[in-house]
Amino acid sequence: MACVSFPFDAPVSQTLFDRASLVTPGGVNSPVRAFRAVGGTPRFMVSGSGPYLTDADGREYVDLVCSWGPMILGHSHPEVVAAAQEAVARGTSFGTPGEGEVALAEEIVARVGPVEQVRLVSSGTEATMSAIRLARGFTGRAKVVKFAGCYHGHVDALLASAGSGVATFGLPDTPGVTGAQAGDTIVLPYNDLDAVRAAFAARPDEIACVITEASPGNMGVVPPLDGFNAGLREICAAHGALYVSDEVMTGFRTSKAGWYGVDGVRPDLMTFGKVMGGGFPAAAFGGRADVMAHLAPAGPVYQAGTLSGNPVATAAGLAQLRLLDDAAYAKVDAVSAEIRALVGDALTKEGVAHTVSAASNMFSVFFTDEPVHDYEDAKRQEAFRFTAFFHSMLAQGVYLPPSAFESWFVSTAHDTQAVERIAAALPAAARAASEATA
Ligand SMILES: *Cc1c(COP(=O)(O)O)cnc(C)c1O
Repeated sequence: MACVSFPFDAPVSQTLFDRASLVTPGGVNSPVRAFRAVGGTPRFMVSGSGPYLTDADGREYVDLVCSWGPMILGHSHPEVVAAAQEAVARGTSFGTPGEGEVALAEEIVARVGPVEQVRLVSSGTEATMSAIRLARGFTGRAKVVKFAGCYHGHVDALLASAGSGVATFGLPDTPGVTGAQAGDTIVLPYNDLDAVRAAFAARPDEIACVITEASPGNMGVVPPLDGFNAGLREICAAHGALYVSDEVMTGFRTSKAGWYGVDGVRPDLMTFGKVMGGGFPAAAFGGRADVMAHLAPAGPVYQAGTLSGNPVATAAGLAQLRLLDDAAYAKVDAVSAEIRALVGDALTKEGVAHTVSAASNMFSVFFTDEPVHDYEDAKRQEAFRFTAFFHSMLAQGVYLPPSAFESWFVSTAHDTQAVERIAAALPAAARAASEATA
């Protein structure tokens, strides 16, 4: 596999990136888009159709990012586009209640059993931030337990990440987050119920909630071990803390009812985003009616948003959810399994140590053959092999997440032709991974 020289391979993207870098920090509006983990010039996309993206240089890619999950029906799905266009023509924002937001809330409540009431917001970050505020307001407690490697948006209190040992108190991981904001966050290793029990034993009556990704996809895909979520549920109930399941990524993706539809463990509060917006900014948090009743204006915990329940976003999101029936999920699951098998076979043929890790149709590849159950395990992989693999795939027209610690996403639009293009690119990419050096 020849090395790809980025400035010349993607001259229009390079020019755009140069312009962007003058007016935007790092040239991007969300850090992982910048290709820092893999190097090279990020591709500026101009259009998407079905499973394909087209960049500013006119090159087409099979898209295995799907906007980090939302585009589960593929790009520019005609019914989702039509719903958005119809809504736009009626006006883009009213700052009043509207029927679209009622219909979207009803759809979410109908799909996800534990959600008795739901509040719409505009991003996953807002959803988790608000859920935590509500959990604190409801319980009158300050501490929040989160797990290393779980991402819940850029909420100050939740950026605290790994600390060693049991019940480590998170220190601010990023400048700008104060000790006060991070000091109430307890960071624990994922999939470790003993650590959770020890944290509650050390701080009885102080922990407002445990927040966890329902099945993590932000350290690569690391599904919960059997009984982990059920154990969290039980421990929280025993201590009067709320169990908050972050389904921003898994919600309406891993099944009709998200990860709840897979493991059936009943959270007190849940958060959603990504798929439910149909490619527009729409997110939500919801759960037990008695907890949600504490939210303003029904209760004292304040939460609001100028564009919350936006008519265009809710129309597109609702159109997308209504198309996501059992057949659609069966299709996404099947194509995911097919691509996973192809990737595994190609890497095995080249003798590359790897683990294809899946949670329903979400998956990622760890370049290690050791089991991966938490963030420390994930970090032990040979990420440099992913870099070589990524660039080979990119050069051959397959767009992977530009990091070894992100989930890959597929859609109902990934058809035989798209899968064949992926299959054709894999042998050279696997060889590049095998030849890569740290
Ligand atoms: C993407 C994500 C978020 C943050 O959502 P944004 O819309 O990017 O703010 C929160 N939690 C999880 C699990 C996510 O995957």
